[in-house]
Amino acid sequence: MEYHDSEKAKEVATRVEAFMDEEVLPREREALRTGDLISFDELAEYWEMAKERDLFAPQVPEEYGGQGLDFRDMLPSFEQVGRSLFGALAIRANAPDEGNMHTLEIGGSERIKEEYLRPLVQGEKWSAFSMTEPMGGGGSDPKMLRTTAEKDGDEWVINGHKWWSSQAKIADFLLVMARTDPDAHPYEGTSIILVPKDTDGVEIVRNYPVLGGHGVMETEFGHAEVAYDNVRVPVDNTIGEEGGGFRLAQLRLGGGRLTHCMRYCGMAERALDVAKAYMTEREAFGSTLADKQALRHRIADAETKLHVARTASRHAARELDNSDARIEVAMAKTFTANVTNEIIDLAVQCCGGNGIAKDLPLAHFYEEVRPFRIFDGADEVHRRTIARDAFEDVKTEEVEHVLRFGEPHR
Ligand SMILES: Cc1cc2nc3c(=O)[nH]c(=O)nc-3n(C[C@H](O)[C@H](O)[C@H](O)COP(=O)(O)OP(=O)(O)OC[C@H]3O[C@@H](n4cnc5c(N)ncnc54)[C@H](O)[C@@H]3O)c2cc1C
Repeated sequence: MEYHDSEKAKEVATRVEAFMDEEVLPREREALRTGDLISFDELAEYWEMAKERDLFAPQVPEEYGGQGLDFRDMLPSFEQVGRSLFGALAIRANAPDEGNMHTLEIGGSERIKEEYLRPLVQGEKWSAFSMTEPMGGGGSDPKMLRTTAEKDGDEWVINGHKWWSSQAKIADFLLVMARTDPDAHPYEGTSIILVPKDTDGVEIVRNYPVLGGHGVMETEFGHAEVAYDNVRVPVDNTIGEEGGGFRLAQLRLGGGRLTHCMRYCGMAERALDVAKAYMTEREAFGSTLADKQALRHRIADAETKLHVARTASRHAARELDNSDARIEVAMAKTFTANVTNEIIDLAVQCCGGNGIAKDLPLAHFYEEVRPFRIFDGADEVHRRTIARDAFEDVKTEEVEHVLRFGEPHR
């Protein structure tokens, strides 16, 4: 399918695809087959290979050690890395570090960029984004955020309780969303503050069991409950403007949602590749599964929906050049999250017991894709945004002639 991406975007994505096919997917298959999982040291070898191929951290400006691709040009590469369970990690384009790199790049001071962004890109540091709170605090409605940061001289004193801080357990620092002005509307009085994890008062309470998990990496990155108890950090650890946390988070999330869309489109494409290969070989009731019309139609629908998801993501990315593209991003995100869930479920079904067994990557994909309907804004939250826009300009004249109760008979 031709998407008319730029020549640069196509050229890089072709090289990322080759890296996945030649180095990453064979190792992933081996890890699934033998249980010999990938260590951090081995991951660093993939980073060296990615650097030799000029593919390392495509989303980061060259001055910080990346490839300096602009947003639209990097998207097709994100699709390629999504084909593997550790593809994004292998080129250091993995969440949440990728989004955190972007946040530090746009909001970090020169000191922060040197001390945190540069080593984060190189994989010398890991990071977490600490926004969501347990029941009673901020979740789908981030205005409910209760974690606070009060100024004491030139320090912030942070108190709060978070969970779903992905990979906080292995992180060196956390970007914490906290109310810094309790009198202002949360959208105007919340800031993002960089907190080194070894600061007194930061407690990584636990990594709780979740759907999904290890994949093919030896270390479980996990999702953590985190307590902040009188945590003191310098005021100049504020990322972006004081009070501008939501605006910055929105900048991070708009693009981040689309990079996730592309990664999951890549995952859905690989799921279809696996399913089609299985269906072509497997026979039942006198013919291959690939010959069964009932399944062929479902595969055709899956290919069609995946094409629409890819197109919607690219369209939203184009619109991001001109505005925050709130509606376009919400549509692309919700549609892609649902379609990729549907497609991976279909691939599991087509492969029968092999869809559930973890010799193939499908069961991992199934576990990985389900949360996408919840994080980066749950389906219903995006639909709320889309519906608000849909009802903004109602054409009341369309029902002018409808008969009302009690009106003269016509
Ligand atoms: C795998 C994973 C990784 C995550 N990583 C991070 C991270 O790194 N950092 C971080 O801060 N957070 C992270 N999160 C948290 C995520 O952002 C939240 O789970 C999400 O915002 C939803 O918040 P909640 O869990 O509190 O759900 P709730 O706010 O309790 O909502 C529950 C459900 O209610 C429904 N709902 C909500 N609003 C409406 C509405 N207006 N109308 C109808 N239905 C509605 C939705 O279906 C929603 O799923 C992660 C979550 C997952 C699953």
